Amino acid sequence: MTLVRVASEPGSPGRENEDFAAASASVMVVIDGAGSPEGLESGCRHSVAWYARNLCGLLLTSAADQNVTLADALATSIERVNALHSGTCDLGHPGSPSATVAVARVLGDDVEHLVLADAVLVLDRVDGRAEVVTDTRLADVVAKLDEPGGLPPLGPDGRSAGLRRRVEELAAHRNQPGGFWVASADPQAAEHALTGTTAVADLAAVALLSDGASRLADRFHLLDWRALLQVLHEDGPAELIARTRAAERTDPHGSRWPRGKASDDASAVYRSFSKNL
Ligand SMILES: [Zn+2]
Repeated sequence: MTLVRVASEPGSPGRENEDFAAASASVMVVIDGAGSPEGLESGCRHSVAWYARNLCGLLLTSAADQNVTLADALATSIERVNALHSGTCDLGHPGSPSATVAVARVLGDDVEHLVLADAVLVLDRVDGRAEVVTDTRLADVVAKLDEPGGLPPLGPDGRSAGLRRRVEELAAHRNQPGGFWVASADPQAAEHALTGTTAVADLAAVALLSDGASRLADRFHLLDWRALLQVLHEDGPAELIARTRAAERTDPHGSRWPRGKASDDASAVYRSFSKNL
């Protein structure tokens, strides 16, 4: 019996969730959409959530074809989303919606994975190791841009002028050699994703997380990866997100853990391969 659990929640109640997560019998996908801050032009009349859910659905479908690689499935999905709005929107605009991607696919005796930008995939190995796959190129660019003192303090709603300037600076490095790669209008970004294959026999579980759901481990350091996997195994993705929200509430202004948004959209997909479930 295969058990896949999925949870996805907006950063705050009433805001549109710009993450999208879904799973089929063989494919698991987490998408984390990003766009221009309010008040900046994007060239696209659709919402970031629209972009995220269409990319997720098309990727779930494309990756189900076992004859294509995950990178090719992602490239095809990016092209298909482009086709949905190339007639109404300026896809060459630097503010066009983009997304980070994590995909895992069970194919025969193997689990294949693909990670693009700062989504996180964790391979829970039967030997006890937690192997984290995430693309640091976005963080590397941010580190280069950071002035001494790091990110500016959060504004009342997490969208200070400093943050807006940061988004504009990042756009100049997006999908450029030497910069970082995300899913947006350019299907070639898929070639720059991190990919790998692991034997099912070597895995206890696999977890796919948007960066809003990996914070307890990689930003707040309240859990190590093994403990995070334990939460997913015992209590599931919704509990991981609930614990993340509880931690964020203890630091609403980002003074202990500097971050762009007090609470981010959070998504987790967890699949266990243990035989005794
Ligand atoms: Zn559009």
